[in-house]
Amino acid sequence: MGPIVEEFEAAFARQCRCRHAIAVSSGTAALHLSLLAAGCGPGAEVVLPSLNFVAAANAIAHTGARPIFCDIVGGTDLNLNPADLEAAIGPKTKAVVVLHYGGFPCALGDVLDIARRHGVVVIEDAAHAPGATWRGRPCGTFGLAGCFSFFSNKNLQVGEGGMVVTDDDDVAAQVRLLRSHGMTTLTWERHGGHAHSYDVVAKGFNYRLDEVRAAIGLLQLRRLAEANRARARIAARLREELDGVNGLAMAFTSPDLDPDALSAHHLAVVLLPEAGLQAPVRAFMNERGIQTSIHYPPIHSFSEYAPEAARGLPVTDRISRRIVTLPLYPHMRDEEVGMVIESLLDAVEYARPRLQA
Ligand SMILES: *Cc1c(COP(=O)(O)O)cnc(C)c1O
Repeated sequence: MGPIVEEFEAAFARQCRCRHAIAVSSGTAALHLSLLAAGCGPGAEVVLPSLNFVAAANAIAHTGARPIFCDIVGGTDLNLNPADLEAAIGPKTKAVVVLHYGGFPCALGDVLDIARRHGVVVIEDAAHAPGATWRGRPCGTFGLAGCFSFFSNKNLQVGEGGMVVTDDDDVAAQVRLLRSHGMTTLTWERHGGHAHSYDVVAKGFNYRLDEVRAAIGLLQLRRLAEANRARARIAARLREELDGVNGLAMAFTSPDLDPDALSAHHLAVVLLPEAGLQAPVRAFMNERGIQTSIHYPPIHSFSEYAPEAARGLPVTDRISRRIVTLPLYPHMRDEEVGMVIESLLDAVEYARPRLQA
């Protein structure tokens, strides 16, 4: 945690136009520390969409709070449904963790309004959304804290790494403290021999980012806007050639979507016409050497979180069986995009009659 980490933090804060950016070892660490700084702990409940990566639920559970799952809007908008988010809020709710699914901003206007009315904190899981904006303002800067991940498959890849952004001085101080064992002096001061002693004022963690990763992060940050533009071009072609063809629909394609939302295009998600097609279509494409994935198996469907599945999540249950994430990365060549399109169309053509038979 030397000068390059500080430079990375300063550059990230500039890009987000926010007061503080605090580098940490992963997106999960960013979520964990943000939730702790927001005062989440035993006895509290935190609402989040079940259609998210499990890290968000794990981070909530590790504070001692209980995750409560809410539903999504539907197949064209895979983000949380604000009405169901509000329905999931109860007297014990301390915070909501919202996801900008695939880099598309969630209904921030509604979310902020609901949070204000119920007196709950908003934490943004912005792991998909570096570079995404709503009404011209960067995702991650609307809630009390925004959490980014620099894992290898994200828009800004370092390998491992994460960032908390916040305008709140107390949250920033708390995250900085907990990032490094709750110690009152900084690693770099001790390294330089300038700090002779220190106190420990909280039960912290080692969630630090190192200089090497910060150096990579700084370079990647400079390439982010261009990489996101390349993703946007590829996503546009996938939408053009797949949406409405053979019963397929591309997520986040409807003209009804919020025109103030600018996506980071982290994921290209196609909605298959029937749930039973998910496995055979993926197997067919895999045979042709095309990797697909599912973002995500809903968190409430996992054994560990099954006891938390008390609220019905009918849209998540229905839609998660029809989604397939297609390859999407900035340096994807035109022929490769063509191969993905062709193999998906072939896969549906092959698997659909067999399913019906
Ligand atoms: C990747 C990811 C995380 C976790 O980030 P790590 O850096 O892998 O710990 C959390 N939430 C979402 C939505 C993610 O995609």
